[in-house]
Amino acid sequence: MTIGPKKKVSKTQSRTRHSTWETINLKKISNTYKVSTCKNCGAKKLAYKVCPVCGYYKGKQVITIKSKGNEKVIDA
Ligand SMILES: [Zn+2]
Repeated sequence: MTIGPKKKVSKTQSRTRHSTWETINLKKISNTYKVSTCKNCGAKKLAYKVCPVCGYYKGKQVITIKSKGNEKVIDA
């Protein structure tokens, strides 16, 4: 019996997970990461990342954001 990862996680999988985590934890990490404002809605967001409020990046809607109570659910 071996303990460890069951399957290799693809680049896309880990990158998507990381960027989603960044978006959700924007307030916590805003001191260490470069923060800019969204050109679409003017909300605070991470530079070179998708806006957590409207889901826009480079003038296009990249993700849709559904709000479940206080938690944000992001559909990539
Ligand atoms: Zn926005």
